[in-house]
Amino acid sequence: MADLETFPCRICGEHKRKFDLVPAELVRASIVDVITKEHPAWSPEGYICHADLNRFRIDYVRDVLKKENNEYASLKETLNHGVKRRRPSPRKYQCRI
Ligand SMILES: [Zn+2]
Repeated sequence: MADLETFPCRICGEHKRKFDLVPAELVRASIVDVITKEHPAWSPEGYICHADLNRFRIDYVRDVLKKENNEYASLKETLNHGVKRRRPSPRKYQCRI
């Protein structure tokens, strides 16, 4: 009957069965960083439900994409600035036949 035993989720507090939960100690450090922004009292004891864990995973991916997008925009701006600076004057390419 151990399968019917329920445990509280550390985030939503709902009691769920073990197959609906992930041990908090198994959550990746990068996801824990996202969780602690919203729940500073997070600790690696107990469980987190799949629904909450997936929500934090999505937030993590969104953060990574946002950072990469910012880096891309910054790199693009740097490259454009460099190209503009190095662009030779049009006269250099005039035909000399
Ligand atoms: Zn939960």
